[in-house]
Amino acid sequence: MKLTVLGCHGGELPRCRSTCFLVDGQLAIDAGSLTSTLSLEDLIKVDHILLTHSHFDHVKDLPLMSDLIIGRRDKPVTIWSSAECTKTLKQNMFNNVLWPDFTRIKSDKKVPVLTLKSFKPGATFKIGRYTVKSIPVTHPVESCGFVINDGTTTMAISGDTGPTEKLWKVLNKTKGLKALLLETSFPNALQALADISGHLTPQTLEAELTKFDRKGCGGAALSPKSGIREPAQGRAQVPAGSGARALRCVRVLSHCWYRPRPCRHRWSSASPEAPHRARPPWLGRSTRRSPPPAWC
Ligand SMILES: [Zn+2]
Repeated sequence: MKLTVLGCHGGELPRCRSTCFLVDGQLAIDAGSLTSTLSLEDLIKVDHILLTHSHFDHVKDLPLMSDLIIGRRDKPVTIWSSAECTKTLKQNMFNNVLWPDFTRIKSDKKVPVLTLKSFKPGATFKIGRYTVKSIPVTHPVESCGFVINDGTTTMAISGDTGPTEKLWKVLNKTKGLKALLLETSFPNALQALADISGHLTPQTLEAELTKFDRKGCGGAALSPKSGIREPAQGRAQVPAGSGARALRCVRVLSHCWYRPRPCRHRWSSASPEAPHRARPPWLGRSTRRSPPPAWC
């Protein structure tokens, strides 16, 4: 399984992109930065998009993508989301007002551009060769984390969530978990905002990690959306504390704000225990030539 981080922020600025991960070039998890990072050739190869929830930073590239791929594929792109999220997309995005209904518009190959498929939060279902278990998490709208298995490798993603229980119970029962993507949307200084908006901060994440008994997890990647707001603070806070040490290795994705575009960190299941340690921006440029990092 090859995991590519296309975006891991809550907003968009040069060098910062909204939440979007790509599995093996064909399964996207969330759609925050599909069109801003992928070439048209790569975009056409995405067969499935699995949405954690309906918030704009997670779905924002769906309309522009649908316009770009029309007439270029033999089959529709399937968008998988919870029933509530699917309803939101139909009513508020592909409603022929904000954007045309690309689930009805057909290409010259007589197939619709998009197909919307719903799942019940908590359900396990197949997407191509992947088995996906959805787990309801804690957020103002219906939101899910996922455990994804391709037959040999298992990874998991929390989605947007505040403190939660079910996710950890499922993860503790998941054998051979190789990678775990977790959110930390706000720095500790904005704890009140994180609490009312259903998000984690480094300190609440630390408490969350005490619920994780780390059976077989190769490493975790923290996706601190606060990096766009207060990068140094977000980065410094996340790895601190005993909670983070509960994971064998912790990877902070937010360093992409100082990497050249496009930011595409790859996490190969072949080397989950050898994450690339990015050079912090405050150390300046290194004069030494180093080998290419494992994920990039
Ligand atoms: Zn959200």
